[in-house]
Amino acid sequence: MAGMQDGAAFPFGRPRRLRRGPVLRDALADVTLRAADLILPLFVTDGDTPRPVASMPGVSQLPVPQAAALVAELAGRGLRQFIFFGVTPDDKKDAAGSYAWAPQAPVNRALAAVRDAGLSADVVTYADLCFCEYTDHGHCGVLRAPAPVQPRVERSETRASPPFPEVDNDRTLENLGRAAVAQARAGADVVAPSGMMDGQVGAIRAALDAAGFPHVAILAYSVKYASALYGPFREAGAGGMKFGDRRGYQMDYRRRREWRTELAADLAQGADMVMVKPAATYLDIVYQVRQACAVPLAAYHVSGEYAMLQAAAQRGWIDLQQATLETLYAIKRAGADLIITYSAPQVLDALGA
Ligand SMILES: [Zn+2]
Repeated sequence: MAGMQDGAAFPFGRPRRLRRGPVLRDALADVTLRAADLILPLFVTDGDTPRPVASMPGVSQLPVPQAAALVAELAGRGLRQFIFFGVTPDDKKDAAGSYAWAPQAPVNRALAAVRDAGLSADVVTYADLCFCEYTDHGHCGVLRAPAPVQPRVERSETRASPPFPEVDNDRTLENLGRAAVAQARAGADVVAPSGMMDGQVGAIRAALDAAGFPHVAILAYSVKYASALYGPFREAGAGGMKFGDRRGYQMDYRRRREWRTELAADLAQGADMVMVKPAATYLDIVYQVRQACAVPLAAYHVSGEYAMLQAAAQRGWIDLQQATLETLYAIKRAGADLIITYSAPQVLDALGA
């Protein structure tokens, strides 16, 4: 292409000249990965002892005091951003997920513990804001009464879901406001709605402002696909569904342009930051969202992406640290400002922190 040439053609041009030696390679690296870019997810429980998550080596459900201690320890090594997920015992689950807005729920206690430990100036706390970890049915909101079952006449339909109640969008919005206020009251710097309800960002913003929390930011899970890669998370968060799936509210990965609609809606409703989830298998989307808006962009390197690296490394098939760094650099290169990743502590090791 005329006018686009950088450097000369072979034999005068030899790109390998600039790959000679680590000092020059480091100097020329134009994608950076810093501890400051990373957000570590933490699963907090009502229990007394840590419970390792079998499908996510290195990840445990943590009692609140241990989670707060881990935050302090990692903050001392330069990892300063944490997102909290709650693990709810079955006897605290109900149809609405009301434990999400109880001050004694583990997420709210963990946020308060970090604040009360005097860490507020050293770390930023994010609270995942959804109901799937709190409802007895495992869906991301309250359910609408089931529609009467119609006799099925089309015998050729092979992918029909069994009839089950649907999540009631607008009633769920009211509860999101309640839970967001409880998280803000507990000390969350950022709330992160992940349920893909229409109108959720605006409803949460209005509730926070009305309750006196205009300074609490919203990181919207704006572009979240229904993904098989969330599997290990459901073990970690004890948030599996009793029936159905989440394709009624999470996005369909076979649609290339739908993210524009979700992104525009969340920005119009006041999202301070937006997210693409999953990350490593959606780099095209990360790149396009980066080009399409000016707000900070987070990407969630999800449990399945983490588990695949861990499993392959356990078999000796890949080098864990190198493969993890390469993956996270790819997410940064695609345009993410922030990466939510279970690998954050290992990355600290790699960065020498
Ligand atoms: Zn959810």
